[in-house]
Amino acid sequence: MSKQSSNNPPPEPSGKPVLADNRMLALFAETVEQAPVAISITDDKANILYVNQAFTRVTGYAPEESIGRNESMLSDKNTPKAVYDELWNRIKSQQIWQGYLLNRHKDGRRYLADLTIAPILNDRHETTHYIGMHRDITEMYRLEQRVNQQKVLIETVVDSIPVATVLLDESDRVVLDNKMYKTLSSDLGLSDPARTFIDILREDMAEEWERMKKKKSGFHNREVRFDRGGHHAPRWYACAGSWFCQEDDRVEAFFHENSHTYLLLTLTDITQQKKHAEEIRINALKALMAEEEKTQRLRETLSGAIHHIQGPINLLKAAKTMLTRRGLDDRNIALVDILDQIRLAGEQSVAHMKRCIPESNTSAMTPVNLNQLLHETIVLLTERLLASGIVVEWKPTPVLPALMGQESHLRTMFKQIIENAIEAMNQSGIVTRELRISTWSDKHLLHVSIEDTGPGIPDELRIKVFEPFFSTKNDGHGGHSGTGLTMAQEVINQHLGLIRIDPSYRDGCRVRIQFNIHNMMFVPEKASDHG
Ligand code: FAD
Repeated sequence: MSKQSSNNPPPEPSGKPVLADNRMLALFAETVEQAPVAISITDDKANILYVNQAFTRVTGYAPEESIGRNESMLSDKNTPKAVYDELWNRIKSQQIWQGYLLNRHKDGRRYLADLTIAPILNDRHETTHYIGMHRDITEMYRLEQRVNQQKVLIETVVDSIPVATVLLDESDRVVLDNKMYKTLSSDLGLSDPARTFIDILREDMAEEWERMKKKKSGFHNREVRFDRGGHHAPRWYACAGSWFCQEDDRVEAFFHENSHTYLLLTLTDITQQKKHAEEIRINALKALMAEEEKTQRLRETLSGAIHHIQGPINLLKAAKTMLTRRGLDDRNIALVDILDQIRLAGEQSVAHMKRCIPESNTSAMTPVNLNQLLHETIVLLTERLLASGIVVEWKPTPVLPALMGQESHLRTMFKQIIENAIEAMNQSGIVTRELRISTWSDKHLLHVSIEDTGPGIPDELRIKVFEPFFSTKNDGHGGHSGTGLTMAQEVINQHLGLIRIDPSYRDGCRVRIQFNIHNMMFVPEKASDHG
């Protein structure tokens, strides 16, 4: 087949037909012309050779007003020289440059151009032209700036709120916090105090928490006590929270709307107010306890007297039985008669004394914080502790669930146990005088441990010490009725708790007390009189 016989154009080296190439070129040209982004093609000095329709729309310059001029005609002359140096360094080394330039529209207004410049190379790998593509992003930039400014404004406002404020997502992660929250975090020595507060509030509010969260409502003035132990006084916070919903701003939610729930939590330190109230309360308690002590002493004295009279009465009864068994002659009858009269007189005295025993107050059952009771008891006994040179190590668990109980009875019980410890350490020969009190809780139980460095209680007396009128203190002063631990056990029993002397502790005495958190405490109709 000859070369002339063919009507088809000769094939190009690429193998594509020339006609197809021309159509493709025309298509490319039209595509560039109609592309929605401003496109310009320049020589290697940035002199404009071609601009598309979008270029005219974005810059205001028609092709005849721009072709032949340098791209610098677009410059607002406000872009730093360093930016141009970087631009040129990059495109001169045949790399693509992308960045932002401040341009001026033909009508004089400034606009921010998001520009990409790419070098166009010939087949010898030399840069012959550049193609520039840019968009006016002024509006987007303005919006972004406004959002950033609003964010800064919000952060500044939140930071200046004189209350610890924290925003939490659904997983209790901190999204936003303020300076006061950071201060609170370092004050309490917790990296994430919000979590601790939320755990307490959730436990405290139970179903109410979930209900409020569902309704996107809120709560306020929920008081939380935080015990740091040692020499640190307890701290109090008034907590408020409100839930709200926010649309998901992540790209995943672009087509499928999604919203998230946030909790805004504020923690107001009300320790000063509480301290003041506590001072008033402690003073009132001191007076109340002094009164209660007087009553208690009277109860103990009368109970002790009854106990002591009861013995001879029992002897009289036994003597009468013996005499009656032996057979009664005239002498015996007279004796039995006298014995009966004495017994009767004794029993009448006992009955009279029993009537005189003052009843112990039955206080109402309320949610009681054992940390608070123990702290108050330590404060009440501070003078005695100092006078005895006793060092107190107070280690409460930071947050203790409440116990339903009779506050005054529990306080008296703790006071009794601590007073026992003080007395034990006051014995001569005791050099190290330390009182260690700690509390903790697990799922079901509240635990209290009170240990001293006194002489301790011998193994064989560990159970006996809870018996009425038993005392290890045989100092002959008669100051110990031996009803203290009996009373303590009685109060603990009423609260369905347990008290025991820890046999493993050998450096003194360690009293272990535990209560069921969900106790169904009963109140006896009439309080026992320890007799
Ligand atoms: P000029 O005196 O032109 O240059 C300032 C600095 O730029 C110089 O110091 C030098 O470091 C560098 N420079 C300029 N020309 C060259 C060169 N030929 N070789 C090496 N370095 C050089 N500028 C805009 O402001 N807005 C635009 O939209 C814009 N689009 C462009 C699109 C393309 C495709 C190209 C190639 C350039 C574009 N430029 C644009 C850059 C523009 O050409 C100018 O360099 C710039 O505007 C600065 O102009 P000037 O008159 O202020 O300073």
